[in-house]
Amino acid sequence: MKGRVLNLIFERGEVEFIQPLAKRMRRIRLTGPALKGLDYIPGQHIRLHVNDLFAPLTWRKGLLRTYSVWAYDGEALDLCVLTHGGDGPGEQWAREAKAGQEVWLTKPEGSFVLRPDAGHHLFVGDETAAVPFGPMLRALPEGAGFDAVVEVDTPDDQIPLPEGVTWCHRDGASAARSTSLVEAVRRLDLPGEGDRAAYVAGEALTVQAVRDHLVRERGWPRRSVLTKPFWTPGKRGMD
Ligand SMILES: Cc1cc2nc3c(=O)[nH]c(=O)nc-3n(C[C@H](O)[C@H](O)[C@H](O)COP(=O)(O)OP(=O)(O)OC[C@H]3O[C@@H](n4cnc5c(N)ncnc54)[C@H](O)[C@@H]3O)c2cc1C
Repeated sequence: MKGRVLNLIFERGEVEFIQPLAKRMRRIRLTGPALKGLDYIPGQHIRLHVNDLFAPLTWRKGLLRTYSVWAYDGEALDLCVLTHGGDGPGEQWAREAKAGQEVWLTKPEGSFVLRPDAGHHLFVGDETAAVPFGPMLRALPEGAGFDAVVEVDTPDDQIPLPEGVTWCHRDGASAARSTSLVEAVRRLDLPGEGDRAAYVAGEALTVQAVRDHLVRERGWPRRSVLTKPFWTPGKRGMD
């Protein structure tokens, strides 16, 4: 009965393996017949059932959490979940996930994807944003110009992104309202005009501050700055 209800909206998969990708980042591979041949554009996310639908308190805590796709080869779909140190159901799911465990998720979706016509691409974000940046950077056309600034707590939090990414470290400071990330973007020598695209994701207030810097201080057109808030203190399960 439970499976029949879930099947109407969600795809069924199972955890194949879990691997630490960085100190606080768990790579979780999902597989299964329903996950074969999905349409997917690098940068997109899925929504995952992180609670048992019929468990007590499930509805109060929320059922779904959103995760970017780190890799998809037409069969297996990899997520990377940050164990951020809270007590949220997403973090708990990632900590306790085991090979063979059943999962229910939506198909990849979302418009946080590359602007193919841009001449220069700028990626800015935190640990969580580094996840969609991986496949987006790997999908850039040969020779495309880009800058990428990713802020993580310590070097142990860096996940494998292509060469050319500038890593910054907060060293214990909060990722929320990160002025150091905005400062790092301010230091970049970016193209003054032309077809540019910025992809800014991660903590909501930091995302807003980076967008304000690009639009107000650098004069980038608003439409050139694609933003996606992933989380913010005190808010549960954004999106
Ligand atoms: C489009 C999209 C893509 C996303 N992709 C990813 C991804 O690839 N990997 C990933 O790990 N997350 C990603 N997220 C964030 C993810 O959906 C959850 O918000 C996150 O896992 C926290 O869920 P939770 O249930 O543990 O905590 P919640 O119950 O949602 O939040 C509880 C509290 O925990 C704190 N918190 C939440 N996240 C963080 C954080 N990163 N750092 C510090 N404190 C935090 C906040 O204070 C929050 O109020 C994405 C979100 C969106 C909208």
